[in-house]
Amino acid sequence: MEDAINNDNLIIKNGFINGNWVNSNSEKTFSVKNPATGEVITEVPDMGEADTKEAIKAAHKALKKWRKLTGKERGQMLKNWHKEVVDNIDELALLLTMEQGKSLQESKAEVLSSAAFIDWFSAEAMRIVGDVLPESAPGRFEYVRKEPVGVVAAITPWNFPSSMIARKVAPALAAGCTVVAKPAEDTPLSALALVFLAEKAGIPAGVINIVTASHGSEVGGELCKNPIVKKLSFTGSTAVGKLLMSQCSETVKKLSLELGGNAPFIVFDDADIDAAVAGVMAIKFYNNGQTCICANRIIIHEKIHDLFISKLSNAIENMVIGDGRDEKVTHGPLINKSAIDKISNLVTEAKDNGAKVVTGGKVAPEIGENFYLPTLLTNLTSDMNIFSCEIFGPIAAIYTFKDEEDAIQLANSTPYGLSAYLYTNDYKRILSVTKELEYGMVGVNTPKFVSETVPFGGVKESGIGREGSHYGIEEFLEMHYVCIASN
Ligand code: ADP
Repeated sequence: MEDAINNDNLIIKNGFINGNWVNSNSEKTFSVKNPATGEVITEVPDMGEADTKEAIKAAHKALKKWRKLTGKERGQMLKNWHKEVVDNIDELALLLTMEQGKSLQESKAEVLSSAAFIDWFSAEAMRIVGDVLPESAPGRFEYVRKEPVGVVAAITPWNFPSSMIARKVAPALAAGCTVVAKPAEDTPLSALALVFLAEKAGIPAGVINIVTASHGSEVGGELCKNPIVKKLSFTGSTAVGKLLMSQCSETVKKLSLELGGNAPFIVFDDADIDAAVAGVMAIKFYNNGQTCICANRIIIHEKIHDLFISKLSNAIENMVIGDGRDEKVTHGPLINKSAIDKISNLVTEAKDNGAKVVTGGKVAPEIGENFYLPTLLTNLTSDMNIFSCEIFGPIAAIYTFKDEEDAIQLANSTPYGLSAYLYTNDYKRILSVTKELEYGMVGVNTPKFVSETVPFGGVKESGIGREGSHYGIEEFLEMHYVCIASN
């Protein structure tokens, strides 16, 4: 299927099973569209249960050899992959912008993050260590060895089509696991391009397999139920995560789940207001608001409310909305029409209940059908839907608080617990508030705390497990305890 790959732009039209670029057994395909223009970029195979079974079989076959390589050998192949990704950054970034919509600048940052995860885990591959335990009886030698979990299923979302693949596949491979990945239906192309480069880097056939599908349920159902698959690593909505968790219970699979968020962004009256406004701009409107760690509820001390709103409103005016391929554009479209409908309904409901639109608050069909103007809403209350649901769009939603207790209570009033942000210059308050926040990750006076070196993940209904850092590889390893008796 060599003609399926255009080496100049890394647009690939096939799935990848056992080292072969393949169509689906059903011969069906689906279109991948540019959300900024609606143009079809390419067709890819619409795979189902039979294709998924083949991919699992290939991963299982490849596991035998892959797990027996030394960590150094696996690490070297990941290093080669890292180099391929860095060497192709411009093509990968453009492809990402075309299928997902984000600005070229954000796409480059995402591809660099993918590369950084691959690089980090290439080194972690060499540092998988076990433990020698104290003797439980005389003459015994007792130790724990770390072994790869086995075949891993990875299901990824459309908001970070490149880095979500890298974050899951790189640690899995480093640990000695093999993978069947199903990228999101809106954005399968970045995953295919990354795997094309992995193949070029010498990663053997069957170690990474990609199954593309227009709907998650058939492929996902097989990945969850098939007993050969030993672990599921999923990033996506809490609703789908719960479903997959129940489907995986039949075969008691290990789980890593990165689910929804409802991040509070708390600004105290002693904070550096300009820094806090810059923080909101960076993390609220990151990926046009389509990120699980976006500031979903901006919670401002009542004394600084008016000043904060006026500064934030001015900053929003500087956003440039359009096709992400245009270098001047800072923020692209939403992913599809249903995302637009969801945001429109949330804003309408809030307005009907007394919210004030400071700026934006409407679709922008003059730019394209998936565009929504960056919006600033005030006069919001905690009984509105916008407070409790993940907005996933460019809506800055402002709430106020009176004191520390009030701020913590508002922040924790959600079943989610992924990320939180706190702006204050009072070190005692930093200590007391961070201790109370029920979140897996807290950024204090910074909106940017994600990297390959730190553990990403949530508590409560935001998920299970961590990605990145030295903790990340543990998710793909299990403990094997051995007791050798000499008498
Ligand atoms: P989002 O709301 O961000 O689109 P989803 O949870 O719907 O998040 O999608 C995340 C990933 O989960 C995508 O790859 C999607 O195809 C997949 N998915 C959706 N529904 C299912 C399902 N029933 N079984 C398995 N995967 C699914």
